[in-house]
Amino acid sequence: METDTPRGKEELLELDRKYVWHHMTAHNDNPMIVASGEGSWVTDVDGQRYLDGMSGLWCVNVGHGRKEIAEAAAQQMMTLAYATMVQAHIPSIELAAKLNKWLEGEYRIFFSNSGSDANEVAFKIARQYHHQNGNPTKHKFISRHRAYHGNSMGALGATGQSQRKLKYEPLGVGFSHVPPPYCYRCPFGQTKDSCSLQCAKAIEQAIVWEGPDSVAGVIVEPTITGGGMIVPHEGYLPMVSQICKKYNVLLIVDEVICGFGRSGKKFGHHNYGVKPDIVTMAKGLTSAYSPLSATAVSAELYATFQQAGPTSHFRHINTFGGNPVSCVVALKNLEILENEGLVGRSADIGNAFRARLTPLLEHPHVGDIRIFGSAMGIELVEDQGTKEPATPERVAQLIAACKSKGLLIGKNGDTVQGFANILTLSPPFSSTDQDVEFIIETLLSVFQTTPPERMMS
Ligand code: PMP
Repeated sequence: METDTPRGKEELLELDRKYVWHHMTAHNDNPMIVASGEGSWVTDVDGQRYLDGMSGLWCVNVGHGRKEIAEAAAQQMMTLAYATMVQAHIPSIELAAKLNKWLEGEYRIFFSNSGSDANEVAFKIARQYHHQNGNPTKHKFISRHRAYHGNSMGALGATGQSQRKLKYEPLGVGFSHVPPPYCYRCPFGQTKDSCSLQCAKAIEQAIVWEGPDSVAGVIVEPTITGGGMIVPHEGYLPMVSQICKKYNVLLIVDEVICGFGRSGKKFGHHNYGVKPDIVTMAKGLTSAYSPLSATAVSAELYATFQQAGPTSHFRHINTFGGNPVSCVVALKNLEILENEGLVGRSADIGNAFRARLTPLLEHPHVGDIRIFGSAMGIELVEDQGTKEPATPERVAQLIAACKSKGLLIGKNGDTVQGFANILTLSPPFSSTDQDVEFIIETLLSVFQTTPPERMMS
């Protein structure tokens, strides 16, 4: 029966167990019920505070509890809660213009709801582009193993993590995968000194083997984030970009995580001096205060859609994409990032991690530490020599130890192959110096006080 009295934790858990289907699991008997957030911290229903070391799912980049965002959203809801994107409305116009400034190039912006949606739109636009420009057979996409591009049939097709795809196949067709630019476990057996960017050349090889006349695009994240923080060699993306140009293949850069400052620059690809044909974005666009994503299409590419005649229309619509409230939230979020210098702050956080956490490489179970902007992956191993991935128990033990000290962190990797051995962190850029210190000190103490013999389950 409904009452005005707030429910107690046990009652909430009972309802949760009975009615809620949690993401990534059939069942979660004892989920943490998050009740509120302020800055980099969240509080559960027991009043226990935790530093949100993953910014939710790599997304609450300006931190929790931003009243100015809530006020902007409330104001827009009272002014105009909804208009379609067949029409125009002021927040989407303002936001598209603002995104062009952030992208440092001229792009046409198509709004959707989620990162997956944004990638689906990218694939459809790429196929239609080739179709109406004399290359109707160009329809395939090359992606990388370990990449994550979303949960819908096309985006999951582009995803290169087998454990996420098993049981749901067949997915969208036309996606193939090449080895990732994974320097710590180079798929081509090379070392830093002998590296000749075979991983980038593998993309050219795939285009040639598939047949250049059949390949529409290559999709890459600037750094593979969710697949285990795989930061490429700095020459990788420029070479991929050149390969794409050579074969008239569109370069789609998935900035769903890396965008809006996570990489230490406005967009991840800005670190490499490339100009993508299509950029997809979500999460950090609104810092997850409201769902919104965007597919930015280069002005040159868009111009070919402007030709007169209904055959060049992009036949794609969604109800919520470009919602005015979400656009206003995004505008306020970007204003905060700009006014508070948070893109630079993100880089500073990563530099602090690099400076203070590098000694962890001496720990027998730390194989590698990879940092891109303020996103970090700590790859755990059983043995530094053999690089055998750490056991799930060891990984779980470290995550639990962090949680017990008030720090929430993530893990990633390829579970089917036993590689879910990479601890991940991506704290809010608004984290104070004390917050950053807390993260660093917690990690140092967890590794220090959990020596190898005690780390076994
Ligand atoms: N691309 C990347 C790189 C992502 O990390 C994600 C989500 N983690 C997506 C796409 C899909 O975004 P969404 O969950 O909003 O559909």
